[in-house]
Amino acid sequence: MSKPPALRCCQACRKIEPKKELLRLVRLPDGEIVFDDPMAEKPRVKCPNGRSYSFHRECAKKALVPGKVAHFLKVEGNRNLEDLLDQMKKMSPSL
Ligand SMILES: [Zn+2]
Repeated sequence: MSKPPALRCCQACRKIEPKKELLRLVRLPDGEIVFDDPMAEKPRVKCPNGRSYSFHRECAKKALVPGKVAHFLKVEGNRNLEDLLDQMKKMSPSL
């Protein structure tokens, strides 16, 4: 017996995908945005009071630009956008 895969909607292009196909960004209660990579070996980000957003890797690349990221993630300004892009590069060297 296997459970049906959990589905998530990409915040950028609105396509529905199995959750493991999408990058997850988590907004922590303090407003910081971090990636939660399903393929990463490190423990998943736990975020009981935050919100999370799913993106295709390609869509994240397009979405995480100044001006747009605030729209998608409802962050104030572009607080840690450079950190995010750094993290994304480490996880997805091909981008
Ligand atoms: Zn997408």
